[in-house]
Amino acid sequence: MNFLSLIEAKRDGKPLAAEEIQEFISLYTDAKIPDYQMSAMLMAIYFRGLSTPETTALTMAMRDSGDTLTFPPEARPLVDKHSTGGVGDKVSFPLAPLLACLGFRVPMISGRGLGITGGTLDKLESIPGFKTKLTAELAVSQVQRIGCVICGQTGRIAPADKKIYALRDVTGTVPSIPLIVASIMSKKLAESLNALILDVKFGTAAFMKTEADARALAQAMVALGNDCGVKTRAMVTDMNTPIGRAAGNWLEIKESIDCLEGKKPTDLRTIVIECAAHLLVQTGKAADIETARKTAEDCLDSGQPAKKFDEMLKAQGANIEAFNERLHLKATAKSVVEMKASRSGFISKCDAQIIGQVVRDLGGGRLTKESEINHDVGIDRMLKPGEPVKEGQALCRIHAQDSSSVREATESLEFAFEIADQPPQLPPLILDVVA
Ligand code: URA
Repeated sequence: MNFLSLIEAKRDGKPLAAEEIQEFISLYTDAKIPDYQMSAMLMAIYFRGLSTPETTALTMAMRDSGDTLTFPPEARPLVDKHSTGGVGDKVSFPLAPLLACLGFRVPMISGRGLGITGGTLDKLESIPGFKTKLTAELAVSQVQRIGCVICGQTGRIAPADKKIYALRDVTGTVPSIPLIVASIMSKKLAESLNALILDVKFGTAAFMKTEADARALAQAMVALGNDCGVKTRAMVTDMNTPIGRAAGNWLEIKESIDCLEGKKPTDLRTIVIECAAHLLVQTGKAADIETARKTAEDCLDSGQPAKKFDEMLKAQGANIEAFNERLHLKATAKSVVEMKASRSGFISKCDAQIIGQVVRDLGGGRLTKESEINHDVGIDRMLKPGEPVKEGQALCRIHAQDSSSVREATESLEFAFEIADQPPQLPPLILDVVA
């Protein structure tokens, strides 16, 4: 194949045939096309875009660059959720066991955090002994046995995406809707799903800064998923404010346990219930969304998903005794300091971007792919927009490894919270559902 002529064609805005896309993805996966040429193609796609058939061809080619998970046919539908990422996003932890208890099989292949966006695998690794690296065979057998798994992308799932994503990261070609669609959906299609719910976020701490971009991404992924035989819906959700009251690896696991035990925060519970309810409707297990919500709420409140979460932890090597001991510790970071409100009023802003930056700078996130992360640091007990506050009351707590980090975090957090005289108008958490 003459890859140069394909780069030139895309540069000049001409369409690529599905077979051409299939071939160059296969050659690139086998290291038969150099990175510099693939970088040029990615930049051409960034500027010229891809049509729907081209995006579908790219997604299928990336999926077919590796293995797909194969499950024995049976009554429990295969479902998953994908979030485009944000701050305090811990939805997967209550959701996976809830879905398993609702009679689904959930092969949740997840990622790590980069920048201010937290990663599901990093959070899980704050649990003593928990293993996120599983072979495809182990992941499938765990799903068959207990209904859910949360693990990393094995080298054999969509390897083309792994290589291309690394290249996009260093060539300024990440924010391209067709490339994002192909990247996310190639991995989800490799899970052999019956239904998928997407949580596409917009706002200061999201990948997509505007509601319009989030909606465009949601529509493109929903169209592609449905075209490929996976019943797909997307919720467009607000990521200007963190989800829940905690951000930071271990602190988020603790908050997820609260959610599984029926405690607040309500925004986390709302997204968990909505994801489960949509999947119940998408798979025909519920007739309408109202009935589905009630079914999901009753199941979460039954306590069964909390037990299922422990079952999943045990299956993936966690030391449950050490985990429970850790849960009962007042704090695991060396220094825990309250940040106080300077006046009374109502919280009008709790900025997800600043909170995310503070957590990353405390050591809870990565500046580069190689950075070691600290599981114990972060922010918790955050007050959220609309809540009343009194002068001197804690706006949040900072969990840090030393006093200089506390000082730096406090300075940044001054800009994260705003207090107004009157309660603010709160935007909806879930703006839209693309079906
Ligand atoms: N997540 C992915 O897996 N791929 C992208 O391109 C963006 C977010």
